[in-house]
Amino acid sequence: MLFADQLGPHFVDDLAPDEQVLLVESRDAFARRRVHRQKAHLVLSAMRHRALELGDRAVHVRASSYSEALRRTGIDPSTVSVVDPTSYAARRWVRSQRMTVLPARGFTLAENDFQHWLGTRRPVLEDFYRQQRRRLGILVDPDGEPESGRWNFDADNRLPPPKGARTLGLAHPWAPTEDDVDDEVRRDLDRWRDEGIAFVGVDAPRTFAATRAEAVDALEDFVATRLAQFGPYEDAVLGADWSMAHSLLSVPLNLGLLDPLEVVEAAVDAYQSGAVPLQSAEAVTRQVVGWREWAWQLYWALGEDYVDGNALDAVTPLPSWFAELDADDVRARCLASALGEVRDRGWSHHIVRLMVLGNWALQRGYEPRATAAWFRDSFVDGYDWVMVTNVVGMALYADGGRMATKPYAAGGAYLHRMTDHCKACPYSPSVRVGPTACPFTAGYWAFLDRNELRLRGNHRLAQPYAGLARLSDREGLLAEVARRGDGPP
Ligand SMILES: Cc1cc2nc3c(=O)[nH]c(=O)nc-3n(C[C@H](O)[C@H](O)[C@H](O)COP(=O)(O)OP(=O)(O)OC[C@H]3O[C@@H](n4cnc5c(N)ncnc54)[C@H](O)[C@@H]3O)c2cc1C
Ligand code: SF4
Repeated sequence: MLFADQLGPHFVDDLAPDEQVLLVESRDAFARRRVHRQKAHLVLSAMRHRALELGDRAVHVRASSYSEALRRTGIDPSTVSVVDPTSYAARRWVRSQRMTVLPARGFTLAENDFQHWLGTRRPVLEDFYRQQRRRLGILVDPDGEPESGRWNFDADNRLPPPKGARTLGLAHPWAPTEDDVDDEVRRDLDRWRDEGIAFVGVDAPRTFAATRAEAVDALEDFVATRLAQFGPYEDAVLGADWSMAHSLLSVPLNLGLLDPLEVVEAAVDAYQSGAVPLQSAEAVTRQVVGWREWAWQLYWALGEDYVDGNALDAVTPLPSWFAELDADDVRARCLASALGEVRDRGWSHHIVRLMVLGNWALQRGYEPRATAAWFRDSFVDGYDWVMVTNVVGMALYADGGRMATKPYAAGGAYLHRMTDHCKACPYSPSVRVGPTACPFTAGYWAFLDRNELRLRGNHRLAQPYAGLARLSDREGLLAEVARRGDGPP
């Protein structure tokens, strides 16, 4: 049996060529949980394409649940084998059915081996990343030392956007050509919507790969046209360049259409053939077998309750304009652009997620579990397992600092440096109080003020707290943030 994120060849390569493969499609799953329209499209398109590829081997069932699919087909669960799925709930279910559960695929390290490595140490990505490079033999010499003497180029990869540029000037990223399967999916989703199933975001031609062949094309296109620029501008944001030099591979990776090691190998091969600098190949390696694997492993290592962490006592419900992606109601340019990207595409790049959307949710004290669910359902690449590190740990600091040494809170000065949004914004990044006060700047100080007792002891925040103590307009600033309330800024 395949789950909807197990669609690549490496999930069936140990089966006999005539062995049947069960794929379950559930309309009710979309009725139970409201997701982005383009995410629903991608999942259905990917699954239906996979069923077509498998031909007679596919047992493609449309049922309200996996249990019903088994009942309807009369398949005895104890005869079914399945690769260990990617959420706690799905893992409980396959075990309750007494299926044969095979070790997880699509990641590079067994969960037990990670637990063993982690032991009782504090989880530090850099330690794990170096261990991964050595273990997998990626860009290391025979003594296990990094090629060219540096483990990472992070310090060089934090450039602000090039001055005066509207875009990085790269070729448009690869995009799929929709086919009959997509047409059918679109018709079904339109009908379901008319029958009362609600989605967030808008429909649009598919942007991301949904088949193995498309995924390979997308990877090749990234390596040929964007990889050389990947790295230096990873943290920069240009309003007119939604993709920058990012790979756009999270969707095919998370659907199981690409294996992480083949992505890294493609980047390293490009470096070894002289096509791209080491800095670019290293940056991809770090993202894929570093960060992505880290997110996966910590999801399991930290336990199911981790997502309930709320160390900063953040209890604000997500306001409807944010939850509904009402970008047009927002005047703050950076936030309007970020919400607009999610509405229009179900995707934005990492810094937009972390430093605009996540930073906003952190500053405003949005409830962590609801915020994680919002990210999971509004993003085309969202799954439970990536939320724990990225949303609960990094963006919201809801774990009290187990993952990040300080909250990723930032005011308008940071966003002014790293984005090109401020010049067209009715607010001013350096103004704290009054009608032109930047909501991120005011919100930053209000965040520090609200959490002073919890965070003042963090030595990495000594400077910001000294700054807060010196603010002459502290009371006015807090009053203003309170007055603006939860409405769109
Ligand atoms: C608040 C927040 C929410 C996020 N939600 C998701 C999510 O729902 N799904 C998801 O896959 N990633 C998520 N990320 C991580 C990261 O932002 C996306 O993987 C990345 O933006 C996807 O675009 P890309 O494929 O062009 O990535 P690139 O920048 O090209 O990076 C290459 C690949 O590295 C992997 N990667 C890089 N950083 C991370 C990371 N921090 N965690 C996991 N994988 C990483 C991804 O597979 C990505 O495709 C989130 C990050 C934050 C801060
Ligand atoms: S001024 Fe503030 S709200 Fe406006 S774009 Fe800049 S950082 Fe965003």
